Amino acid sequence: MNTKMTHHVARYCTAVVNLLLFTSFAVGISAIVFAQETKVGQASAQNLTSTQLQVARGCVYRDDNGNSVRDPGEASMPGVRVSNGQDIVTTDASGHYELNVDDDAIIFVIKPRNFMTPVNSQQLPRFFYIHKPGGSPANFKYPGVAPTGPLPESIDFGLIPQSEPDQFRALIFGDTQPRNVEEVEYMAHDVIEQIIAERAHGAALGITLGDIVFDDLSVMEPLNQAVALIGIPWYNVLGNHDMNYDATDDRHSDETFERIYGPSYYSFDYGPTHFLVVDDVTWLAAANGEPAHYVGGLGPKQLRFIKNDLAGIPQDQLVVLLMHIPLTDVRDRQELYRFIEQRPAAISLSAHTHYMEHRFIGSEDGWQGPRPHHHIVNVTVCGSWWGGRKDERGIPHATMSDGGPNGYSILSFDGSRYDLQFRAAGRPDDYQMNIYAPESVSTDRLSSTPVRVNVFAGCTNTHCQMRVGSTGQWIDMQRSTQPDPAFVNEKARDKAILLKNWRDLPETYSTPHIWQANLPEAIAAGTHTIEVRVTWPSNRESSSTRLVRITPTASGS
Ligand SMILES: [Zn+2]
Repeated sequence: MNTKMTHHVARYCTAVVNLLLFTSFAVGISAIVFAQETKVGQASAQNLTSTQLQVARGCVYRDDNGNSVRDPGEASMPGVRVSNGQDIVTTDASGHYELNVDDDAIIFVIKPRNFMTPVNSQQLPRFFYIHKPGGSPANFKYPGVAPTGPLPESIDFGLIPQSEPDQFRALIFGDTQPRNVEEVEYMAHDVIEQIIAERAHGAALGITLGDIVFDDLSVMEPLNQAVALIGIPWYNVLGNHDMNYDATDDRHSDETFERIYGPSYYSFDYGPTHFLVVDDVTWLAAANGEPAHYVGGLGPKQLRFIKNDLAGIPQDQLVVLLMHIPLTDVRDRQELYRFIEQRPAAISLSAHTHYMEHRFIGSEDGWQGPRPHHHIVNVTVCGSWWGGRKDERGIPHATMSDGGPNGYSILSFDGSRYDLQFRAAGRPDDYQMNIYAPESVSTDRLSSTPVRVNVFAGCTNTHCQMRVGSTGQWIDMQRSTQPDPAFVNEKARDKAILLKNWRDLPETYSTPHIWQANLPEAIAAGTHTIEVRVTWPSNRESSSTRLVRITPTASGS
C-alpha cells in the first residue's frame, strides 16, 4: 500500500466531507455496551466527545512488478473489497473506493484470491493504512501509533499477482507467548528451526492465534524476526496478553498490536478459502471496584464487519474463523452463530487454553445450524507457558495440561475440505500419540489391565484400535475423558523437587482425547508389542508401538 500526499490537495479538500458527530450516535456502536458496562452519568459524558468523520479515498491497482508503487501501465482493479473496520465497499470500474472514517480508523483491503499484498521485512502483510491523526495515547508503556497526520489524498493498495491453487497448506501457531527474549530463543530452537528444516511444510502462509507474547509487548519485535525466517507471509490474531493494559477502553487496548500488525480484525482469501480473523478479546476498564480485565467478546462494530464480510462470500466457500479465545467463551457468540450456522462449510480455530481439543458446537450452546460447528482449540507453541523440566538443550519440555507436547498444526485445504495434522516440537511427524501400559503384567491380570492412548489431536471422529503382537486381533478402543497419566506423574515428581530452575506446570486437564481398552485375555508370557493404529477423519492413519512384558501368574496366587 502506498499513499500519495501531493501539494495538489485542493482538488480533494473541497470534496472532503467534515461532519461533527457525537459518539452516542456513532451508528449506535456503543448503545448496548453502555447499557452493560457504564452508568448513565458516564454515558452522557461520552456524548460530549466529538469525532471527526471524513471520507477516505483511494484505489486498488495491480502491482505487476511488486514494488508498491503504481507504475505506468499497471491496471486498476475493479471489484476488490476495502473496509474501514465496519463498512465494506467494492472498488468501481476504475479501481476507486470511498469510505467514511473517523479519527481512529484503519482502512484495509480484503486480499482476493490470486493476489498478494506486500509484506514487510518480517513477512507481515501490509494490507492496511492507519488513520490516527493524533496518534495513540502517548502515556502507554508500550508505544502505539505515532500521529499519522491528515488523511492522504489517496490511499492506494497495490496487489501483486500470484497463483493460488485449490490445494494449499497453512501453519497454525497457538500461543507462542514468550515472557522475554530467552523464551523467544526456546521457540526458535524448539519449533522455528524444525519448520525451516521442513521447508515450512510446503505451507503458503502462517497464522499465530494470539498471545503472541506474554504482556511484554517489546518482545514482539525479536519474535517476529524469528518467525519471519520461516519465509512465508505470517498473519496474526490478537490475544489477551498482547494488549495495552494502560488502556481505559477496548478501543485503545490494541494500539501496539495495530502499530506492528495492523487491524485486530480483518479478512482475506487464499485459494478457495476465506479467512476471517476475529478479535474476541474485549478490554473492560476498572469500574465499580473491579480492576480492569478482559472478557471474551466481539462487540457490535466488529459484528457488523463480520456480517458485511460474509455477505460477500459465496455460500459454498469454506470460511475459516481465526480467534484467540475459544468461541464458546465469547459472550456475544450467538450473533456470530447466526451469520455462519447456515453455511455448508465454516470452521473456527482458537488457542488460549494451552491444550488441544476439538469441540463440536451444537444446539446445547444455541447453535441453530443443521450440523454442529467444528471449533478447533489449537496446540500451543509454548506448550504450558514454557514450563516443566529442561532438557539437554536447556529448553523446558512444556508438555501441555492434556499431556500433549507443545507444537503446532499443519492445516491442509482442498476446495472446501480441510485436514488438520498435529506436529510436536522437536519430534518426527509420526509422533501423534503416547501409549500407556504397565511395564509388566501377569497373565491372570491381562483382561483387567487397561491400555490408554493419548491421541494428541484426537476428536470424536478419530478411530483408535490396538493389537498385541503382529498377528493379534485388532481391538476397538473407547474414547474417554480423563487426565493424562504421564502428566499426572510428572506433576507429582515436579512437586517433590523444591529447588527448580524451571517454571511449574499448570494443573492437570481432564482431556477428551484418551482412548482405552483392556489387554486381551490370552497372551503368552514374554515380551510383546502393543501396536496402536489411529484412523483420522480424513482417513489418514498413524501408528505407534509400546513394549510390554507379560509374566507368568505366580503359583499360589
Ligand atoms: Zn490467552
